Formats: sequence, C-alpha cells, structure tokens
Amino acid sequence: MTQNFDIAVFEGDGIGPEIMRPTVKILAAMAQSSGYSLSFNTVPAGAAHYAETGESLPAASMAAAKSADAILLSAMGLPSVRYEDGTEISPQIDLRKALTLFAGVRPVRIFPGQKTPLNIPEGREVDFVLIRESTEGLFYTQGTGEVTEDDARETLRITRDISEKLFKFAFGLAAERKSKGRGPGKVTCVDKANVFRAFAFFRDIFDAEAARHPDLRADHAYVDATALWMVQKPWDFDVMVTENMFGDILSDLGAGLMGGLGVAPSADIGLDNAVFQPCHGSAPDIAGQGKANPMAMILSGAMMLDWLGTRHNNDAITRDGARLQAAVEQVIADGTVLTPDLGGAAQTEDIGAAVLAQLGHV
Ligand code: ATP
Repeated sequence: MTQNFDIAVFEGDGIGPEIMRPTVKILAAMAQSSGYSLSFNTVPAGAAHYAETGESLPAASMAAAKSADAILLSAMGLPSVRYEDGTEISPQIDLRKALTLFAGVRPVRIFPGQKTPLNIPEGREVDFVLIRESTEGLFYTQGTGEVTEDDARETLRITRDISEKLFKFAFGLAAERKSKGRGPGKVTCVDKANVFRAFAFFRDIFDAEAARHPDLRADHAYVDATALWMVQKPWDFDVMVTENMFGDILSDLGAGLMGGLGVAPSADIGLDNAVFQPCHGSAPDIAGQGKANPMAMILSGAMMLDWLGTRHNNDAITRDGARLQAAVEQVIADGTVLTPDLGGAAQTEDIGAAVLAQLGHV
C-alpha cells in the first residue's frame, strides 16, 4: 500500500511563497515517481496574515502543524509588521516552543563549485552539522524580558530535561553520519563553561551522555574559539551542539561559509514533530522580483525526506532526500543556472526547473 504523509505547509511572507512553490512541485514529482504520496496542506500564518487578521498563528494552523507528519515552513516575518511591543512576528519561534522542537539542525556543507569565502586546502572537506538548542537558553524570556528606565534583563535558562534530549539527539546524529561515511563520529559541545555556571551545568550533562557512546568521540570548545575555528579549520568539525543564542549566531556564520543564506537549509526537530525551513528571513528587499534563491528551501525539503524516511523506515523516501540534495549540489556545481545571490542571472522558477531536470523530471 502506498504510504501517505501529511505535510503542513506555511508559505510565509516576502519571498516565502516564491521559494515554496518550486519546492512543493519538486517534492510532489519525486513522491509520484518513487511510490509514496505527500499530501500538502497549506495553512495561514505570518506577518501578512497578522496585518490582515490580527492573528499571527491561528489555532487551526497550529493544530494542523501538530497533527501533520512533517511541517514545511518558508521564511516568515516582515520588518514593517510588528507586535505592539516592537518585536517582529515570528510564528516559527512559537512553533518551536509549542512543539518542543529542541534540536535546531543546521548543516554546513561546501561542495565542488560552491562559492565560499574560504580557501579550502586540497583534500579537506567541509561537511559538519551545527545543532542549536531551540527552545530555551537566552531565548527563554523572549518577549518577557524586564526593561526599566535604567536596567534591562533577560534570563538564560538551561534545563536538564531538554539538554539530555539535545545531547542524545546530537550523539545519535553523529552515529548516523558515521554509519553513512559522512564524518568520524565526533560531537563538540560549544559553550562558555569557563565563565558561566549555567554552561558548566550544560557541559556536565553533555559529558554524561558522551560516556554512553564509547564508540563516538566527544570534544569541548568555547564559543569564541569556535567562531575562529569555523573560519580557520572548519573541516575539523563533525557535529557541534550548542545553546540557542550561540547557535543563532554561529549558524549565520556557517551560512556565510557556504556562500550565503540562499543555500543554507535547516530543521527544528523534537521527539514527535519537525519543522523544515530555510535559515534566511523573508528578504523583503527582493520579494516579488523573481530573484529569490529557492535552494535553501529545496534543501530543507530534502532534509524533510531524510527525516521522514528514517522515522518511518521508508528507504525510498530516504533515498529521495539524498537524491534531492545531490541534484541541488549538481546545479550549483554546473554554475549555469544560478540566482543573483550566487552570481548568476536566473530566476527562482529556473532553479526549480534545473533541479527537476537534474532529477530526470523534465
Ligand atoms: P531574519 O532576521 O528574519 O532571519 P534577516 O534580517 O537576517 O532576516 P533576510 O531576510 O534573511 O534578513 O535577508 C538578508 C539578506 O539576504 C537580504 O539582502 C536578502 O535579500 C538576502 N537573502 C535572504 N534570503 C535570500 C534568498 N533565498 N535568495 C536571495 N537572497 C536572499
């Protein structure tokens, strides 16, 4: 019997719908030819929806996301639409908290032909994954920080429960990558344990999980040194795991190493749900011009297939995830159909067509 998966689709704001369109088209074509089915259910949320209705994430959209097999979420938020306290509309953060999506997975991969500011020595390969804890840390008091005339405070919170889940996930991912020949099986805990007690606590929980994986290597690094090493010797990393705000900053550095936000995918994964979305925002400066690079969204779709296939023991879907990633990488390596952010003149839809052609769907 054909296995069907319900996918909740949030098209988002700005360039969001433009990059979602080719992504859904590609995923639907792959499913059809590989013998499984994906039912896409587009649900409203975001800044434009808030401006229209006063609601940024309707309860029905949240319910659809919760019950879906996976959530595809495009870029959300607009600088011109804000809540009364001045903060931007960000349903993606509400989803992370409501669905306890503690593991923010940000792969950083530089493949042949990819534009990068780095000089990568012969024989070195940059292919690591940054895991950003996504529900607590310095984002714990997001929106409720105390601000008086002379004083402003936010609270960093690290819990044993979430940290244990996070580190278990990180070591699981390192083991999976090792089994696929993608890394040596090393997890680096990125913190500031030399200065803050909260990070010493974080590191202790990491060490306890590390002790359960004698077949994998565990390492520690301070966040400031990590920023330096991501530029100087990024090929040394395999899986990195860190606190929410540190991860927020380092993941943009990772995207920069990959040649820009247009090619940086991500996933926010919990025990029961997962959201797949590009690292970038809604890019209102280029919205409506057909210039947006959909690759980060398409690669996030590939991560979704990998996650669904692994979770449901469906090899066809897992294989499609790898095929889709390889197809995007091949389009980049060919270098003839690229959007302006990667130095080309192609339009968003051209990238979708090039990826489909690469997959053999013309
Ligand atoms: P947020 O805080 O919501 O993540 P941001 O302030 O980091 O957003 P983005 O919307 O990510 O900003 O845009 C940053 C820059 O990168 C802009 O100049 C934008 O045009 C460019 N950019 C982002 N995504 C893409 C994309 N998919 N294709 C081309 N350019 C992009």
